[in-house]
Amino acid sequence: MIIIMQTQATPEQIQSVEEEIQRIGFRPFMNPGVERKVIAVLGGLDAKKADLVEHFYSFPGVERVDLISHLWKLASREYHPDDTIVMIGDVKVGGNALTIAAGPCSVESESQLLGIAQSVKESGASLLRGGAFKPRTSPYAFQGLGEEALKILAKAREATGLPVVTEVMDTTDVALVERYADIMQIGARNMQNYSLLKRVGQTKTPILLKRGQGCTIKDLLMSAEYIIAEGNPDVILCERGITTFEDSTRNTTDINAVPVLKHWTHLPVVLDPSHATGDWRYVESVAKASVAAGADGLLIEVHNDPKRALSDGPQSLRPEQFEELMSKLRRVATAIDRTV
Ligand code: PEP
Ligand code: MN
Repeated sequence: MIIIMQTQATPEQIQSVEEEIQRIGFRPFMNPGVERKVIAVLGGLDAKKADLVEHFYSFPGVERVDLISHLWKLASREYHPDDTIVMIGDVKVGGNALTIAAGPCSVESESQLLGIAQSVKESGASLLRGGAFKPRTSPYAFQGLGEEALKILAKAREATGLPVVTEVMDTTDVALVERYADIMQIGARNMQNYSLLKRVGQTKTPILLKRGQGCTIKDLLMSAEYIIAEGNPDVILCERGITTFEDSTRNTTDINAVPVLKHWTHLPVVLDPSHATGDWRYVESVAKASVAAGADGLLIEVHNDPKRALSDGPQSLRPEQFEELMSKLRRVATAIDRTV
């Protein structure tokens, strides 16, 4: 349920509505990023809330009381009709311009990352990606350089001005990763790690939340809700392919997720064609399709020497292929009145 206050509602009127919400056992939530004075009533059963609609209408300063039909509330379009734009320094995610994050799957060395960072910047990327803590299927595979990688990411940011996005896998690493990252990534495997979601929800760092391989769009939105409900409204959603019976590609791109998410949520939506396909040959097609479908940005793996990459080499573009992709994406973006 949301209570929409009149624009001229006084702070006292807002406070008395919030106190009443608490008195009857619910939690009032006002999103600091929302211009409209909307109080979300969180917790409890929706059926019980239906009886309260009339009750809250009678409070001075209340304009309207609406029930939200979805299980996600703060992430819903009903709560926040306009698109959310997440700001990372000067870089916007959401809005008319597309945001392209590019970089290696894993940070492997300073020279590797700095070289890739410089080239993706020149090609027009606005964010640098690079893994420090890697969620690998095999415990014997490269697990990432940890803090050393975070320091290298910070150097690359200093050298290029590109904000950096990197994954955090564990609640105990959040404070460390937060010191270096401009955006913290929650990977597909951790999308339903609720303690981790709550922990990053307590930070002020924007979050890139990737959809789990076996999770529905609704599951993804419920996970976003965990983060926002803890007080962090800056969540970017990422479709990265799901597991299906199809085994010709690493995952199956759920292109439907883009328009469905755009319909149900105000949060920015990006797509990761590298993990969705698992093969550099298909990255361009799926990247173009994502932009055409309305994604707000892309996450692209780029490596200077994919054959020797310590992770995800087969799906990584070489820098010159990324440059070529960017020029094609500009043409797709122009066709749908967007910019890159
Ligand atoms: C990654 O971005 O390198 C990654 C591991 O992604 P995902 O969690 O989507 O597999
Ligand atoms: Mn990867």
